[in-house]
Amino acid sequence: MRSDLAKVVETLAARHPAGAVLTDPLALIVWENVGYLVDDGRREALFAEFRDRIGLDAAAIVNAPPAVLLDIAERGGMNPPERARRLKAIGERIVELGGDLGSVITALPTTKARALLKGFPAVGDPLADKIMLFGGYEVRPALDSNGLRSLVRLGFCTERASYSTTYRDAVTVMREHGRMERDWLVGAWAALREHGKILCRRKAPLCADCPLERECPKTEIRAL
Ligand code: SF4
Repeated sequence: MRSDLAKVVETLAARHPAGAVLTDPLALIVWENVGYLVDDGRREALFAEFRDRIGLDAAAIVNAPPAVLLDIAERGGMNPPERARRLKAIGERIVELGGDLGSVITALPTTKARALLKGFPAVGDPLADKIMLFGGYEVRPALDSNGLRSLVRLGFCTERASYSTTYRDAVTVMREHGRMERDWLVGAWAALREHGKILCRRKAPLCADCPLERECPKTEIRAL
């Protein structure tokens, strides 16, 4: 298995710098839930609309007119009524917790904080890790599905029978061969994601344009 992760991330980060990222846990959860299988441009537009019409505040979400939540959800992919319900449920849960999710996370041991986050809609291990990392609550690796696919294709880990096992293996690789610094890990999340989206695509990766082509084993993938 390869061990030159830091060098690879440096190459990709030069092409895809992280820029400004969301750090607020409520905002990160809304970002994920505002659309389903929509492209980044649509998600950004829906998130901005949600922020402007409703507000990134738990009480404001709870008090939002249902028609406004549904109106936004209707442009965010399949099953709008269910996704509108989930957006409201995010606000309700945070109100139940006292209204400030960041303070709740800070007060909990990291294992309990991650478990709490995983109780929100659409939050699995990858998003829980992202919230912990981006919010500055814990220095821990995180990857989205594009970044995970990039690491497997590049030979840093193997695709296992389940996504969650592959993800756990990849996080271990990041922990052992990356730099355990928040900014480096945020940069790695962004660079590997963009690389997976633009070049190391699920179908027909654009290897001829890839800066890592000569060193890449181009590992076959089944489902990632
Ligand atoms: S060479 Fe191809 S398979 Fe390897 S990282 Fe680049 S795009 Fe992905």
